[in-house]
Amino acid sequence: MSTVDELGAHVSVAGGVERAPGRAAEIDAVVFQIFTKQPNRWADPVLGEDAAARFRAEAAGREIAYTAAHDSYLINLSSPQPALWRRSADSFGRELERAAILGLNAVVTHPGNATDGDRASGIERNAAGVAEALEAVPAGPRVLLELTAGAGTSVGGTFEELARIIQLVPEPHRGRVGVCFDTCHAWVAGMDLCGDYDGVWLRADDTFGTHRIELFHLNDAKSAFGSHLDRHESIGKGTLGIEPFRRLMNSDRFRAVPKVLETPKGDDGVSADRENLVVLRGLRLR
Ligand SMILES: [Zn+2]
Ligand SMILES: [Zn+2]
Repeated sequence: MSTVDELGAHVSVAGGVERAPGRAAEIDAVVFQIFTKQPNRWADPVLGEDAAARFRAEAAGREIAYTAAHDSYLINLSSPQPALWRRSADSFGRELERAAILGLNAVVTHPGNATDGDRASGIERNAAGVAEALEAVPAGPRVLLELTAGAGTSVGGTFEELARIIQLVPEPHRGRVGVCFDTCHAWVAGMDLCGDYDGVWLRADDTFGTHRIELFHLNDAKSAFGSHLDRHESIGKGTLGIEPFRRLMNSDRFRAVPKVLETPKGDDGVSADRENLVVLRGLRLR
């Protein structure tokens, strides 16, 4: 049976969302993240009640501790173009609806791009889009703003920008917003988890607050520190190396925070995740 801890992975929904709980079990995980649709298409398929019921039955029959959806890559809630923003806000609302139907804990979202270079306005639009979706799906999942690699006009690649988005979401909706901390994104965005590990968390606490981190994406990086290039690598095999993960896995404050891999899957889609989870669990000193 599965090992009960807070570790898991992004798993495939090929063949239907109801396959996800079983796939998590195959890699000894009780935590997982999924896409609830094709992430590179605008089409928002209606999740039938039958599929949702099968998913809930699969999840109920297993030990599942935490589940998240990752939103579509096309959604841009920071867009200065009204039509694209509207389309994004509608699509994001559908993300929350599907996650609610499945009973998922959270929807992870990339804050998008202020393609006109006006980041302050992009941040305001992002907060408005998040608030609108939370309002429309009142009993639904939490929204986790993912720290991005900070490339080009992308929003959310600094702690200050995450803090600002959260601050701009009005109460009571702000209480349903948290942060997803991606270690690869942080590193390539210039947060020195190797040379200044403690300093990174001090700055996180001084800005958005580490208590808001509700999910980790544990990824090593193929690309260099500060490069803003988002290329994920297996744990300990990239430019981050093993040490930051050792410290994270032994951190008391983050012990109960769910952590999912988004590392390369390899040929069979299972072995690489299993190996990465074994590596992470092996780092734990207690
Ligand atoms: Zn992401
Ligand atoms: Zn990520």
